[in-house]
Amino acid sequence: MKILAAASEVFPLVKTGGLADVAGALPGALAGQGIAVTTLIPGYPRVMQAVAADGEALAIADLFGGPARLLHASHRGLELLVLDAPHLFARPGGPYAGPDGRDWPDNPIRFAAFAAAGARAAREMGFDAVHAHDWQAGLLPAYLAAAGSGPRTLFTIHNLAFQGQFHVSLFPVLGLPPAFFATDGVEYHGGVGYLKAGLFHAARLSTVSPTYAAEITAPEGGMGLDGLLRGRAAVLEGIVNGLDVAEWNPATDPHIPAHFDAARLPARAANRAALRARLGLAAADAPVIGFVGRLSWQKGVDLLLHALPDGAQLALLGSGEPGLEQAADALAAAHPGRVGVFIGYDEGLARLVYAGSDLFAMPSRFEPCGLGQLCALRYGAPPVVAMTGGLADTVVNANEAALAQKAGTGFVHAPHSAPLLAAALRRATALWRDRRGWAALQRRGMAHDLSWAAPAARYAATLRALR
Ligand code: ADP
Repeated sequence: MKILAAASEVFPLVKTGGLADVAGALPGALAGQGIAVTTLIPGYPRVMQAVAADGEALAIADLFGGPARLLHASHRGLELLVLDAPHLFARPGGPYAGPDGRDWPDNPIRFAAFAAAGARAAREMGFDAVHAHDWQAGLLPAYLAAAGSGPRTLFTIHNLAFQGQFHVSLFPVLGLPPAFFATDGVEYHGGVGYLKAGLFHAARLSTVSPTYAAEITAPEGGMGLDGLLRGRAAVLEGIVNGLDVAEWNPATDPHIPAHFDAARLPARAANRAALRARLGLAAADAPVIGFVGRLSWQKGVDLLLHALPDGAQLALLGSGEPGLEQAADALAAAHPGRVGVFIGYDEGLARLVYAGSDLFAMPSRFEPCGLGQLCALRYGAPPVVAMTGGLADTVVNANEAALAQKAGTGFVHAPHSAPLLAAALRRATALWRDRRGWAALQRRGMAHDLSWAAPAARYAATLRALR
């Protein structure tokens, strides 16, 4: 079976979030299921430079104001179709914003063009099904519906917070039939909703964890789209993301000073010492709580800064909202030797936090899937997580009943609450003093199958059902 994936970012070519990881890893995992994936990606400069194009698949004389081509290319095992449309994508900066950090004003056109080109490729190149990701590819199933023929689409939501909502004046430019500007179509709150269009027109929907799938069909988590999602609940499923377990492997990770695995846990101590040295954490015998992530409201960092238990240390790596960066720096200044903060993006330090922390905190207010807790499980730092989205689906709470059954891989608390987070951290740091019980907890987390094998089998079944 041949499928066309459409994703505006694909690791390792372009990445701003979890979408890139999924789009980069799923094709390899699906190959093992007999599904050949070709991924459509915009021809941003860094993509055009990184890949060697080997031929033109399709030429489009006028794609929203300029000529465009779909180029065949391959890159590190990924089969690609690169949308070479210089008037839309040959620009400096990131995939969505210029060097000044501001969104390109013509993003609605850029990603309408991406979707329209994807729909043509899907119809003209003999694909059996389409897998479209997030709002940037949201119009793709709408263009297929407008054409009246072509393969059916699985549409995957990576974060419902990003909806691609634009002004009504855009609609005539899109080239969709007038009847599509309707509640049963692409209209959303009087404008054009790209995510909404995908949710309405795709044959099947998925998101990145079962709990998030349930949350987004309720008013509290549905961000205005819960009514539509409830109506489509029969075709919506949650599939937890896998982790690239070859890339994230503490036994081989070149970024960390000491390699270890579940049978060699004592070797982990050298990473802990290196992390303490790097972030200036003074006490050898006080637990180190790690945090890696975007400093944003979603991630609950503000809660964490208010919930550090007495006698515990904090190793925090992240960047994001200036107010939260300042709050983290202020906490470090107020507690020298106890709170270590690095503001920035640092892959090596991130891996040292996973490999050297005693616990990993992820108190997100909402979390579609979450990657940090998966990395922490794999690197032997039991996660302390909020009971939401993918966090609830991937961490088994080590309460007394679970521990009595020799189960549990981390600590789960109610979201949105600094006191309940603090209580969970106190429970975890108390258990940390029981060295044997703690090592058993670490080993159970490390033994958890986090690979793409099981999720890929679920995606394969869903994609086959589209044929
Ligand atoms: P999101 O995609 O919402 O940002 P995830 O938990 O799904 O959150 O994925 C975050 C990924 O990015 C993790 O692999 C984490 O290690 C990495 N990451 C986040 N912030 C940083 C940072 N400041 N430095 C290095 N890696 C980071």
